[in-house]
Amino acid sequence: MNPKEFVLYIEDLSVSFDGFKAIDSLNLYVDKNELRVIIGPNGAGKTTLLDLICGKTKASAGSIKFKDQELTRRTEHAIVRSGVGRKFQTPSIYENLSVFQNLEVSYPQGRSVLGALAFRCTDEVKARVQVVAEEIGLADKLDMEAGLLSHGQKQWLEIGMLLMQEPELLMLDEPIAGMSAKERELTAELLKRICKNRSMIVIEHDMAFVAQIASKVTVMHQGKILAEGTMDQVQSDPKVIDVYLGH
Ligand code: ADP
Repeated sequence: MNPKEFVLYIEDLSVSFDGFKAIDSLNLYVDKNELRVIIGPNGAGKTTLLDLICGKTKASAGSIKFKDQELTRRTEHAIVRSGVGRKFQTPSIYENLSVFQNLEVSYPQGRSVLGALAFRCTDEVKARVQVVAEEIGLADKLDMEAGLLSHGQKQWLEIGMLLMQEPELLMLDEPIAGMSAKERELTAELLKRICKNRSMIVIEHDMAFVAQIASKVTVMHQGKILAEGTMDQVQSDPKVIDVYLGH
């Protein structure tokens, strides 16, 4: 396989914690515009894998290539600058700032809140905020204080804050946790819309949601990949039924 053909090309990746192999010689290849969902039982290594990609955890061995650039020796900050965005489960928005300001401070020029508020909001930034606000469905809430948004809207705002940095790969950890049925529906539409010109990796437990959004599903177990394919393929795989879906 040729790394140049993939947005993300992971080969023989391993990491150990006190001798325990949390990720064990793992290979993963993500295409352009792909929405890859990673599923697997608790402790399978899903979060650790995303931590390795975004540089939060350093690999013991192996290679992570993003657009043919090696990430394993880069800092977390440099990895963000390369175009990889990661959203954790708990929203980290600025509750006292407006939706507009939250997006504005996330523009790459204004990384610190004070610095960003002091710097003059250019037409370029305003235009970018507008595009992102429309993409996340909050264009009519730009003046609202972010703390007053619903739980789902706060999650979308945080996705918008990542989009301000124009990532080419986005990684989300359980994006619909705590959302209403309507919010889950809108999130599925949002994620599919985002993937029209970016790639995404999502960790998710809700199988109905996985079936709705995934281009491809990867099942992890004990730090390795157990199965990979469409939702129908992995759901009918006896290995998967045995260790995970059958539980
Ligand atoms: P998942 O996200 O699939 O539930 P994790 O990636 O969180 O799984 O964890 C995989 C395994 O690695 C678990 O057994 C967990 O206890 C272990 N682990 C993860 N991070 C650390 C760490 N920093 N130190 C020690 N063990 C860890």
